[in-house]
Amino acid sequence: MKNKPQTRLIHAPRKAPQYIATVQPPLYRASTIIFENTNALFNRHWTDEYDYSYGTHGTPTTFTLGDQIAQIEGGRYCLLAPSGLSAINLVNSCFLNHGDEVWVSDNIYGPNMEHLRNLESRYGISVKVYNSIDVDSFTPSEKAKLIWLEAAGSVTLEFPDLINLVKKAQKHKILTALDNTWGAGLAFNAFDFGDEHLSVDISVHALTKYPSGGGDILMGSVLTRDQKLHHQLFRMHAIQGIAISGDDAAQVQRSLASMQIRYEHQCKSALTLLDWLKSQDDFVQVLHPADESSAGHSYWKEICTSGLSAGLVSVIFKPEYDLTDIRYFCDQLKLFKLGFSWGGPVSLVMLYHLKDMRQLENQHLKQGLLVRFCIGLEHPEDLIQDIENALKQLQKYKYEQPIQQTE
Ligand SMILES: *Cc1c(COP(=O)(O)O)cnc(C)c1O
Repeated sequence: MKNKPQTRLIHAPRKAPQYIATVQPPLYRASTIIFENTNALFNRHWTDEYDYSYGTHGTPTTFTLGDQIAQIEGGRYCLLAPSGLSAINLVNSCFLNHGDEVWVSDNIYGPNMEHLRNLESRYGISVKVYNSIDVDSFTPSEKAKLIWLEAAGSVTLEFPDLINLVKKAQKHKILTALDNTWGAGLAFNAFDFGDEHLSVDISVHALTKYPSGGGDILMGSVLTRDQKLHHQLFRMHAIQGIAISGDDAAQVQRSLASMQIRYEHQCKSALTLLDWLKSQDDFVQVLHPADESSAGHSYWKEICTSGLSAGLVSVIFKPEYDLTDIRYFCDQLKLFKLGFSWGGPVSLVMLYHLKDMRQLENQHLKQGLLVRFCIGLEHPEDLIQDIENALKQLQKYKYEQPIQQTE
C-alpha cells in the first residue's frame, strides 16, 4: 500500500542508524516518546530512574546531562529544572508542610528567601534566619524540617561554618539543602567534605552560571545521594510538570567540557583583581572568601581544599560615596556590563543596598554601598584598567565638579 504524499512527508522511510560515533551525543527533542507496543506501554514505570514515557520525565539528552552534573558534584540522582530558582522551589515545595520550620542563612540567594516568605504567609510555614558564620544562631525547634545553606553566601560572600551547621542539623534530623552554585561542584564536594566525610542531603545548582557558561541559558539541578529523598523529589518534579528543553540541555552539556578550565581561569582572575582592589583607597572592605580578612575565610580554607573559589568579588565603597556616586561609577565601566547573574564570558557589575537585604546585625560588614564584580573570561589586566578608569572618573565627578558659572 502506497501512502499519499502528505503522509509520506511525515513517515519518512529513512531511519538514522542506531549508533554512530560523534563527539557530542545525539540530541533528543521530545514531548511524545513512542512505545514499541502495548507491552512496553503497560510495563513502563515512571518512577524508574531512566523511564522513557513522556518528554517531561526526560530523554537520553536530559539524562546524560543529569548524570554528568551528578558526577561532577559527587551526588547520585539528578533532577533538572528550567532555572536555578525553580530547582530551589522544587525542594521547598517537596519538603515543607504546614507547621514546619525552615532555617535560612541571612545571606541566602534573595529570591529563595522571598519564596520562603511567600510560603510562610500562605501556608503557615515558619521561616527562621541564622548567621552562617555563627552556628549558635541556628537554634532549631522540634518543628524544624529543613535548613538552607549557601557557600559562599550571596553578594557578601561569607563562607559558612558548614561542618558545624551540617553536624547540628544532622543531630536534630533536619534535612540539609545546599545552594551549590558558587562552588559548582569544583571548589569542594558537597557530598564529602571535612575530615569526617560529611555530606549535605540535597545540593541545588543554578546551571545558568558556570555549567552554561554562556550567559544565555537558564537551568537548575537538584542532586541527592539518597534514593528515598530522590523519589520524593522525583514525584514532585513530575506532578508539577517541571521540564527542560532538549536543546538547552545539549547546550549546557556541550559547555561542561570547558567548565573546570573556565572556573579556574575566572578564579585566578578574581584573585588578581582582589589584590588590586585591596590596594585602592575608595573601598572600606573587599569581600572574597580566599582573603584572610573576609568573614568565614577559615571555613573556606577548611572546606575548599582545592584552593578554588568562584570569580566573584564584592567591594564596599567608603560611606561618603552615595548612591548617585556609585551609579556614576557603574555607568563609567566599559568592559563590566551592568546585569544580574555570573559565570559567563562577559564580566558583570551590580550594585546593592545591603541595608535592604539583610535581617540580622552583620557586624563584620562595614557601612557603605556594595558593588559586586563577576569576573568573565577577559584578560584581568583589562578588567583592572576598566575599574581604575571608572574610579578616576568617579573622583573627578565627586571632588572636581566644575563650579557653576554665574553670569
Ligand atoms: C543565579 C542563582 C540562582 C538562581 O538561578 P536562576 O537560574 O537565575 O534562577 C540560585 N542561587 C544562586 C546562588 C544563584 O547565584
